[in-house]
Amino acid sequence: MSSDNAKMHPIFAVPEKAPAEAPPTPSGGAVADREAACPRCFGTGLEVVAGKGARRCLCRTENQRAKSLEAARIPRRYDGCTLASYYPVPGNGTQLRAFNYAFRLVREYPAVERGLLFMGTVGVGKTHLSVAILRGLLEKGVGCLFYEFGSLLKEIQDSYNPVSKTSELKVLAPVYQAEVLVLDELGASKPTDWVKDTMMQIIGTRYNDKRLTIFTTNYLDARRNPVDETLEDRIGVRLRSRLYEMCKTVVIEGEDYRRRFDAQQI
Ligand code: ADP
Repeated sequence: MSSDNAKMHPIFAVPEKAPAEAPPTPSGGAVADREAACPRCFGTGLEVVAGKGARRCLCRTENQRAKSLEAARIPRRYDGCTLASYYPVPGNGTQLRAFNYAFRLVREYPAVERGLLFMGTVGVGKTHLSVAILRGLLEKGVGCLFYEFGSLLKEIQDSYNPVSKTSELKVLAPVYQAEVLVLDELGASKPTDWVKDTMMQIIGTRYNDKRLTIFTTNYLDARRNPVDETLEDRIGVRLRSRLYEMCKTVVIEGEDYRRRFDAQQI
C-alpha cells in the first residue's frame, strides 16, 4: 500500500467482543499451517472488517483458549460439566446454594477474596461444580489448574529425586502458581506423615500467597455416627484451620447422582 493510500484508508483497531487473553504468539509447524488456512485472516492473525478496520482474528483467540483449557488439565470425564449443565435437585436447598456460590465466584472474579470448600458425600456434584467454575474462569482468560489430590501426591512421589532429596519443581510450581486451583478429593489419601506434610506445604504456600483455591471433599466436619472420620481427622487440625480462612465451606447434600446413569441404556 502506498503512503497516499494509507492516508486515505487508515487501518483502525476494531474492539474485540471478548478481551484478548494474550498477544498472538509466534507459531510453527502444524499450528502455522492451520492458521494459514484460516479463511478469515489467511494466517496473519488480523481479520479485516469491511469498512471498519482490523481486529485480532478469532482463530488466534480460539487457539489461545484451547491451549488454556488443555493446560488446566480437566479430566475428560468432566468435559460436559458447566454451570448450565448443573441441575439442582428440586427442593434441595443445599444444591441451589452451592450453585449460587459457584455462579457468584465466576461472575465476581477477580474481586473475590476466598475460595470454596465443597463438602458432601459421593456423587452430589462437588467436582461438577468445581470444574464448572474453572470453565467459567477460563472463558474470562484466568489461568486455571485442576488436580485430583491423590494423583498430585503420586506425581510428586514419582518425581522425587533420592540424590537431591527433592521433588521436581516441574510438578509443584504450577500448583503453587496457578491463579485458580481446584484440588479434588481432599483427605482421600491415607494420612501418613508424608501426605500430611505435603498437603501442608502445598496448601500452606497457596494460603501464604493468598491464591484462590477450590477444594472438594467427601469428609464432613461433624460425625454422623461414632465411627465416621471427619475432615479434621483426615487432614489435621492446622490445615482445617487454614481452610476456614481460605474458603467458604459449602455443604452439599443429596443422593449419588451417578445412580441415575444406571437407569440408562448402555
Ligand atoms: P462428587 O464430586 O460429589 O462425588 P461429581 O461432581 O463427580 O460428584 O458428580 C458425579 C456425576 O454426576 C458427574 O457426571 C456429574 O456431572 C453428575 N452430576 C452430579 N450432580 C449433578 C447435577 N446436580 N446436575 C447435573 N449433573 C450432576
